[in-house]
Amino acid sequence: MRQTDLFTKTRKTVPKDEIAKNAQLLIKGGFVHKELAGVYSYLPLGLRVLEKIEQIIREEMNAIGGQEILMSTLQNRELWKWTNRWDDREVSVWLKTKVADGSEVGLGWTHEEPLTNIMLNHVHSYQDLPKLIYQIQWKFRNEERARSGVLRGREFLMKDLYSFASSQNEHDRLYEIVAKSYANIFNLLGIGKMTYRTFASGGAFSKYSHEFQCLSEAGEDTIFINNKRKIAINKEVMTKSVLSNLGVTRKELIEKKAIEVGNIFNLGTRYSDALGLKYVTRDGKAEPVIMGCYGIGPTRLMGTIAEVLSDDKGLVWPESVAPFKVHLIELKNGLGKKLYDKLNRAGIEVLYDDRDSTAGEKFNDADLIGIPWRFVVSAKTNGKVECKKRDEKTFELTTYDKAIRKLL
Ligand code: ATP
Ligand code: MG
Repeated sequence: MRQTDLFTKTRKTVPKDEIAKNAQLLIKGGFVHKELAGVYSYLPLGLRVLEKIEQIIREEMNAIGGQEILMSTLQNRELWKWTNRWDDREVSVWLKTKVADGSEVGLGWTHEEPLTNIMLNHVHSYQDLPKLIYQIQWKFRNEERARSGVLRGREFLMKDLYSFASSQNEHDRLYEIVAKSYANIFNLLGIGKMTYRTFASGGAFSKYSHEFQCLSEAGEDTIFINNKRKIAINKEVMTKSVLSNLGVTRKELIEKKAIEVGNIFNLGTRYSDALGLKYVTRDGKAEPVIMGCYGIGPTRLMGTIAEVLSDDKGLVWPESVAPFKVHLIELKNGLGKKLYDKLNRAGIEVLYDDRDSTAGEKFNDADLIGIPWRFVVSAKTNGKVECKKRDEKTFELTTYDKAIRKLL
């Protein structure tokens, strides 16, 4: 893509009320536009990043046998009454609205009830289990604090996976399979080393759940970690009994701030009991289905990467999610055209800075936007190209072909 065609410009300023580093960088770079507190629009560069994050997650979900669906955003209140979760005193984050016939609908903030209801039509016997079903969808939550940029949206993207099993053993097996695929996802996104599978509170049906927490000062959670043993415990469950269960002492742990990028939950039979989701066993008995739920926030992940991998000049995208692989900068009009065509022919995603601006402006914008590779052609490079990575200091002068080979 030619930068003269890209409609977004980098910006020097951000809205006054925007205090989060992730949103400040993303707004300045032209990745997102702030509509309201906790509400952002995704512009071409931002959408490219978001779609890559989604695709990495989708491929991992498909690899473990997940089947993708897309449920409705508007929620039928009758379903939620079965679990008592329509009540605003039970769930404080609902956004609700009236439809033309005067009845009320809610905007989906999670989807256990509607999916359990769908499964009533499809799960009848043990032969229909286990199943893993997921979607990638915008969720709406009336979050009280929406001051963390895209980390905490009132409108945000979530990948939510639900498991349906016929026994606790089968459930536990699925739970571990999903946990492993989550670790793969965070590795592929370039934050694996700083993301910990963390003991957290479990809700009604099991003692613990697991959160995936990425270390960052911008995080709203406090966790205690032991790096060597890769143990992490959320402050909310830091008790003597948890420590002894894990065979670790308080002294061996250090306190850190972290961002919850995902979590996995054993739901037991809470929803299947409430909505009557049963299956018939081999012996002809009717038993409730055992469920689990597993969330990841793609928009929160985009903000997390912006927080933890950036530097004082701007964003630093890992290649796996960068909007483009290479930023080609020409310092004399038209000089980059030949290499741009070559890169396109090689199928490499390239943003071509063909603007009529100064070298300083171009380099500053490239640092801010954070594309992993930078190629510079100028009168000085004399038919060759200067290459470097976003986080390297020095350029290497090389031929076009060799430069392209670095990227393949
Ligand atoms: P938190 O504790 O941060 O409020 P949660 O425990 O309510 O999150 P879930 O309901 O399990 O989160 O959502 C699954 C995933 O969706 C989270 O792990 C996170 O990655 C993402 N997520 C949750 N709330 C938001 C939000 N307001 N904005 C962006 N992403 C979110
Ligand atoms: Mg949480």
